[in-house]
Amino acid sequence: LAAKELEQLKQQIEELSLEQAKLFTKFDDLPLTKNTLRGVKESSYITMTDIQRDSIPLALKGHDILGAAKTGSGKTLAFLIPVIEKLVHENWNEFDGVGALIISPTRELAMQIYEVLLKIGKHHSFSAGLVIGGKDYEFEKERIGRMNILIGTPGRLLQHMDQSATLNLTNLQILVLDEADRILDLGFKKTLDDIISNLPPERQSLLFSATQTKSVQDLARLSLVNPEYVNTSSDT
Ligand code: ADP
Ligand code: MG
Repeated sequence: LAAKELEQLKQQIEELSLEQAKLFTKFDDLPLTKNTLRGVKESSYITMTDIQRDSIPLALKGHDILGAAKTGSGKTLAFLIPVIEKLVHENWNEFDGVGALIISPTRELAMQIYEVLLKIGKHHSFSAGLVIGGKDYEFEKERIGRMNILIGTPGRLLQHMDQSATLNLTNLQILVLDEADRILDLGFKKTLDDIISNLPPERQSLLFSATQTKSVQDLARLSLVNPEYVNTSSDT
């Protein structure tokens, strides 16, 4: 993105008021890069879901987010769009290493996120990789150092953090914990704590969950700073 365009985009985001953002209905209304909007449109996404409308503007403005919305409400785009835009805002390029880390409870869910990312991110030049086990560990290890966006399951990620010298997370810009309630249900609390305590603290963090349990709140306290709460789960 040209420096001037990037400055204009950042200015637009800074000037965007949350009152204004509440009235947005389409992805088109958001201050996003043309390349992201193209990817979103070509994937046939036009109108935002509630969780997308409520959390994307906050995330673009750099806030940490604790988001709750039931399954099927569109949480994937609610974090993937801010992830891509964050790297653009930071002028990230292919050679800058891992800028975004997305943690997902299962291999299947991680692969689904990866597929959506490939579609909506196809007009950007970032590289993305899966770290989910099952595949050859050496294969992952060899590629991991070249990735800009990593999507992984907790166990395999921690294994790479412990054993793969090629994995460098010291410049991480944004962390996503997706389906946090399920990650905890699957017994990954200790693994997550170990991963998070080894990440640079100056990052942005987004935590999404279908339910708001006590253990999700504990995790939020450990991983988020002054989070904005976005909850579209209530029936009122
Ligand atoms: P969640 O993670 O909250 O369970 P997903 O992100 O998996 O939900 O999305 C559920 C389904 O809704 C997917 O099939 C996805 O393609 C679709 N979807 C998400 N956002 C939109 C949107 N803005 N417009 C139309 N369909 C959408
Ligand atoms: Mg989901």
